[in-house]
Amino acid sequence: MVAEHPKISFVIPLYNESEIFTELISRLRKLIDRITDPCEIIFIDDGSKDNTALLMQELAYADKKYHCIFLSRNFGHQFAVSAGLEFAMGEYIMVLDGDLQDPPELFFEFYKKLSEGYDVVYGIRKKRKEGVLKRATYYLFYRILKSISAYSIPLDSGDFAMITKRVAKIIVKMPEQSRFLRGMRSWVGFKQIGIEYERDARGAGDSKYSFRQLLKLGSDGVFNFSTFPIKFFTILGVCCMMSSVIYFLYTLYRKMFYNDVPVGFPALLFVIILFGGIQLLSIGVIGEYVQRIFSQVKNRPLYLISKRVVNGKDVADE
Ligand code: UDP
Ligand code: MG
Repeated sequence: MVAEHPKISFVIPLYNESEIFTELISRLRKLIDRITDPCEIIFIDDGSKDNTALLMQELAYADKKYHCIFLSRNFGHQFAVSAGLEFAMGEYIMVLDGDLQDPPELFFEFYKKLSEGYDVVYGIRKKRKEGVLKRATYYLFYRILKSISAYSIPLDSGDFAMITKRVAKIIVKMPEQSRFLRGMRSWVGFKQIGIEYERDARGAGDSKYSFRQLLKLGSDGVFNFSTFPIKFFTILGVCCMMSSVIYFLYTLYRKMFYNDVPVGFPALLFVIILFGGIQLLSIGVIGEYVQRIFSQVKNRPLYLISKRVVNGKDVADE
């Protein structure tokens, strides 16, 4: 169904996906035929070097449901999705990968949850049909991130999700440069729920995430959502200082009761460990300030209000 004011938007980033484009369109068409509400599909071309952009453009000229955004160069998946969210007009916005790893047909389950009053429904990958190494790395990463992150980021959930317009608006307004959308999405709060699904293997082509990009995504997740790394230095510094003092007392004891301590060496070791500790602690202290500057600069809203009751009536804040 075509409409000026779509109720549902699909946001799909594409980077060199010409191999799978036809299959993607046929799956989407089949899905949209089953949806009674007006839909729009937003494709974001993230600076593709193959003819993805051309294919997208042809489709958008032929069918008004397709809305294309062409980025000026390759900015990366997270930025492509952010651009899509900015222009999505639907009340409900589904974000999915263009390689058909996230089954679009899950729309109906997601939509059901949103109609029940949820603001965010995200996919939880139950099974991944990817290499052992990649699966193991992801498994570990999400568990480490969960254990050190300041607030809970759900395990094994990626960017595959359906969100309401108000959540999308908030994410778009968050001006942070290093974007870890799945974390930002869970930071927003409101009513969120995960739905388990089996992550398919890529429909065609290879992963467009280079190892470097994956590393960057991982570190954005850790450094944007956790202060553990900097706290770790403080803890290490304190441990070093304490162990230097214990070592000092121990050598003093050996000197007094056994007199078997070599001249000079323990003093040297004591000073080295003590100053190592002081330096680590200083890095930790500076880090605490840097971390505070960082969170100030990120300029996230202080809080988000889901609803207020004034004069006996519900007031929804935008
Ligand atoms: N993608 C993108 N820009 C990039 C890398 C990937 O827009 O720089 C898109 C890609 O076309 C796909 C989605 O992001 O639709 C997920 O990428 P990919 O499948 O390569 O990641 P993986 O599933 O291997 O983590
Ligand atoms: Mg993929």
